[in-house]
Amino acid sequence: MKYIGVDLGGTNIVVGLIDMEGNIIKSYTRPTIPTRKTEEIFDDIIDMCQILIEEFNLNLSSLKGIGMGIPGEVDSKKGIINYSNNIPIKDFNVSSYMKNLCKKVNMDIPFFFANDADCAALGELVAGAGKGCSDLVILTLGTGVGGGIIIDNKIYSGFFAGGAELGHQTIVHNGELCTCGNKGCLEAYASASALIRDAKKSAKENPNSLLNTLADNNLENITAKVVFDAKDQNDSVAITLVENYIEYLAVGVANLINIFKPEVLLLSGGISKQGEKLTTPLKEKVVTKVFGNDLKTKIDIATLGNDAGLIGAAMLAR
Ligand SMILES: [Zn+2]
Repeated sequence: MKYIGVDLGGTNIVVGLIDMEGNIIKSYTRPTIPTRKTEEIFDDIIDMCQILIEEFNLNLSSLKGIGMGIPGEVDSKKGIINYSNNIPIKDFNVSSYMKNLCKKVNMDIPFFFANDADCAALGELVAGAGKGCSDLVILTLGTGVGGGIIIDNKIYSGFFAGGAELGHQTIVHNGELCTCGNKGCLEAYASASALIRDAKKSAKENPNSLLNTLADNNLENITAKVVFDAKDQNDSVAITLVENYIEYLAVGVANLINIFKPEVLLLSGGISKQGEKLTTPLKEKVVTKVFGNDLKTKIDIATLGNDAGLIGAAMLAR
């Protein structure tokens, strides 16, 4: 059996043929063009699915279904996309639209969808760093902080619509303002944006810091990588920045471990590229914060990168 996965993003649509082990056999990418009508976007997706089916001469009975990851708040039970952050979709009944469309083009196979971060969590569980596990939490450290929860091999997204908002747990009462309007969220401390915000301030206050040299003396050139590179070169300002960053991240990670006690907690997103330079000091801090100082959960780096969402989306049809 095979699956068709769809990763609907704000910039690109990726449609792929995925095998039972979660390997991508072939994938196609087209620009999303989010300004066009929602229906046109889904018509395009079905067209891409048909291309795959024809190319591999697939019998519909050998396809378990189409699974789609969607950015934003989705209600899988009702079949509705409530809203999407990057694509102007609102209150769209994606289940009935896709079902009708599939029938129209004689492609009558089951359709499933979920929030894209939840799909990425499922992808890592099936084919990535969580392979062989049944309980997993993933935390994505990018421009924002997102994540997903898998309990007993299934996405856990709560009773109400929407994905798991792991980045919006409050870790500092009355702390830094978050993009969501709340103060003190994990995202306001553990996102790349938060690290860059703090690094710009420190670089300004410490003109001799390597941060300025590595950023060609332009604060706008400071990235999370610049901060970690300066730390690796023993810059004391960067060392403090990274130390503080990991301390706050550890609070969020320890909270998740205390609540979910997952087999594995994965980090993904740009900052996770630091690998063991991130996980080793993080584990040292997390162990002091988890209940009973007993850290059984494996803290590791996600391995599928951008493919996690596509693979996980396909696996919705399992
Ligand atoms: Zn927030």
